[in-house]
Amino acid sequence: MSNESLANLLKEERRFAPPADLAANANVTAEAYEQAAADRLGFWAEQARRLSWAKEPTKTLDWSNPPFAKWFEDGQLNVAYNCVDRHVEAGNGDRVAIHFEGEPGDSRSITYAELKDEVSRAANALLELGVRKGDRVAIYMPMIPETAIAMLASARIGAAHSVVFGGFSADALATRIKDADAKVVITADGGYRRGQPSALKPAVDDAVAKAAGTVEHVLVVRRTGQDVAFDAERDVWWDELVGRQSAEHTPEAFDAEHPLFILYTSGTTGKPKGILHTSGGYLTQTAYTHWAVFDLKPETDVYWCTADVGWVTGHSYIVYGPLANGATQVMYEGTPDTPHQGRFWEIVEKYRVSILYTAPTAIRTFMKWGDDIPAQFDLTSLRVLGSVGEPINPEAWVWYRKNIGADRTPVVDTWWQTETGAMMISPLPGVTETKPGSAQRPLPGISATVVDDEANEVPDGGGGYLVLTEPWPSMLRTIWGDDQRFLDTYWSRFEGKYFAGDGAKKDDDGDIWLLGRVDDVMLVSGHNISTTEVESALVSHPAVAEAAVVGAADDTTGQAIVAFVILRGSAAEDEKLVAELRDHVGATLGPIAKPKRVLPVAELPKTRSGKIMRRLLRDVAENRQLGDVTTLTDSTVMTLIQSKLPSSSSED
Ligand code: ATP
Ligand code: MG
Repeated sequence: MSNESLANLLKEERRFAPPADLAANANVTAEAYEQAAADRLGFWAEQARRLSWAKEPTKTLDWSNPPFAKWFEDGQLNVAYNCVDRHVEAGNGDRVAIHFEGEPGDSRSITYAELKDEVSRAANALLELGVRKGDRVAIYMPMIPETAIAMLASARIGAAHSVVFGGFSADALATRIKDADAKVVITADGGYRRGQPSALKPAVDDAVAKAAGTVEHVLVVRRTGQDVAFDAERDVWWDELVGRQSAEHTPEAFDAEHPLFILYTSGTTGKPKGILHTSGGYLTQTAYTHWAVFDLKPETDVYWCTADVGWVTGHSYIVYGPLANGATQVMYEGTPDTPHQGRFWEIVEKYRVSILYTAPTAIRTFMKWGDDIPAQFDLTSLRVLGSVGEPINPEAWVWYRKNIGADRTPVVDTWWQTETGAMMISPLPGVTETKPGSAQRPLPGISATVVDDEANEVPDGGGGYLVLTEPWPSMLRTIWGDDQRFLDTYWSRFEGKYFAGDGAKKDDDGDIWLLGRVDDVMLVSGHNISTTEVESALVSHPAVAEAAVVGAADDTTGQAIVAFVILRGSAAEDEKLVAELRDHVGATLGPIAKPKRVLPVAELPKTRSGKIMRRLLRDVAENRQLGDVTTLTDSTVMTLIQSKLPSSSSED
């Protein structure tokens, strides 16, 4: 970004008060903000008491060597015990922990008592394979219960896991195995994806060979039953090894700062970073935020997070947060359109899901498919809707609330990152009057603000860089094996503050609006303009389902705004519509934000976690060789988009 702060263009006046019944019984009231502001560390010390500690911490935060934080340093706990055993000991062993729904329609419900047995068996199996406290275990799996069990089993014996999303290539897996020096890889023969069994084991064989040397064993879950190569020395079947273990395993207590996992960021902006999370602080904040932001009532709610366990959302809000809270949740293996485009809503209806957590990319896809699809299902069980992963366009937010939430349920837009480990900025459903498209306010105990180039806090109504000004319990501890990169990436831009890499603005009430990556901010005729705001203006036109905007080098204006749009089902793609869309943005945001070109496309380049990769579109718009495409879902998309470019432009 240049020295001028981000222009504040988007005006969004719609407001939604919390439903009275929810507010009356909410887990968290407005007092939490005051309490945490008065004594931030005292607030987190109190939240840490949600957990069962083998040794209670007496210290909350050691910040004597910033930015290397230690939280609850002298406390000891076992994370898996907290997520499983203690619920059984409290008499809730019969409560369902996971309702698993396979893509082909198979299903299976696992109680907390059963989960305890399975995790204990898997922990004993890892011990038999030679895994010890301090080792690393790589996990490359489909979305099945064994994935969560494998993570908890590693945690239970003090081995850090490194989950690699099952859609990644053998090369990506090899790099991650090598970077973390994994001793064991846990995988499956395959998983179901878009109606087909899709193999995983061959990629593991390939990756283990490439990583050369560190992996001693590969533990293989039978999921699809497809034929896979098997190395009798190295490979073991899960059902054979885990199946014959004892269901008794006594959890050992580890230090609060013992490593829990390494997870690589989704790679939207460049080479993924191996983010290290530790135990006590991470579990405290994931448990607290999951309970507070979703108003979780573990006895009655059915919770469903549609993310893959391979992303941080799956770590914090499928495995650790919900299970630490003793929640009942749905886990779904497949895609939203298999076997039909109503699959998600069918699942909500079947399990009476009450809390749904999904991503803007999915919501925009549902908008594109049409309102009539969710309308065919009974969604009345829903009471809180969440969003995460990208800025949510106001129109998508309103669509979500109206078509999924019957215009009744609060929508909580949660801002956070792999690095933050847990939610940081979000409304609270029983407290906040929500604004479509805004994550609004740092959660109790969290200090975030927006600063300008000189690190000065911007006034209300101003825009700039999102920073976190105080340490938080679930913060990353470093980049695995690379403290220097940790310092350079997050702590060098603004002294003493964590720089998130995202642009943001504060509205006149002081609420925070996320405006996308700072790398994506455009500089047009001397004005910094956020891609998010122009995209949101485009999505507010009835013909547009999804939009991606970039700034391309331009002789007269410095950068010119180029927009790629996916049209809704019925819209006709012609010159007239393109002109109309350009005018619509001009009318919504002002003439400065009017795109120079609008290009209707069939698909947009996205990461495997569904985020738009604007840097590739910028390469296309500037006629450059494409940058790194390894985290892209489908590289043929780029060829299609490139072929569109020369002919469909429209210029003043
Ligand atoms: P990389 O850092 O490798 O480029 P990534 O940033 O996509 O990958 P994640 O940690 O999965 O990896 O994503 C965090 C980012 O996602 C945030 O920095 C932000 O840009 C975006 N994000 C997540 N939630 C929200 C939200 N509610 N509103 C706006 N942006 C969000
Ligand atoms: Mg990032």
